[in-house]
Amino acid sequence: MDLDAEIQALARSKMVLLLRRYYGIRDERVLSAMEKIQRHLFIPEAFRDGADPYGDHPCPIGWGQTISQPYIVAYMTEKIAPQPSETVLEIGTGSGYQAAVLAELGASVFSVEIIPELAEHARAVLASQGYDQVKVRCGDGREGWPGAMPFDIIIGTCAPEEIPDPLVEQLAEGGRMILPVGRRIQQLVILRRKGRRLLQENALSVRFVPMV
Ligand code: SAH
Repeated sequence: MDLDAEIQALARSKMVLLLRRYYGIRDERVLSAMEKIQRHLFIPEAFRDGADPYGDHPCPIGWGQTISQPYIVAYMTEKIAPQPSETVLEIGTGSGYQAAVLAELGASVFSVEIIPELAEHARAVLASQGYDQVKVRCGDGREGWPGAMPFDIIIGTCAPEEIPDPLVEQLAEGGRMILPVGRRIQQLVILRRKGRRLLQENALSVRFVPMV
């Protein structure tokens, strides 16, 4: 391994140590996916200089956007517990990192990003890392992805003021949705579809970029 690769690998181990020991993330599949995925490659090259991609904070990816803090990625993924061969809809592809974590767990991922340059970047880095089971579409995620529904999991990484109806309609029986909801103060909301009922749980208070 060259020196750079070795330094990145150490930074990943430290990140995972913190997730496990400080933040209490337990799901070994999530931890090993995050230990493996080269998060630094998901930062567009123009923004990599001086970035701290494995630090305990969100990381700028350009166009005013960020990859979520590693803890938030781990927490959301652990909460929805994707199983191999499940189908996931992600709103807000951004860098593509969260999509890679989901794909690493064996899910098929349909991800929507509204900024064309980020959609293009994410597509390229996901392909270069061999994640063929991720499809990225540029458009408004509020509409979901009708052609690929229903979804076992819907994950939002930008915050609407209210959950858009099409997303609820595209959630499969037994499916779960996790996304930040609210304007300035946001709550991470988890919805589970049980028959005709929707069970709602409010988790952490968070700050994500708005769903535009
Ligand atoms: N999951 C991303 C984090 C992205 S930040 C990652 O792992 O890197 C949130 C993203 O949501 C931004 O890229 C932003 O452009 C996008 N976004 C905001 N509103 C959107 C909308 N209506 N539809 C799709 N994407 C949207």
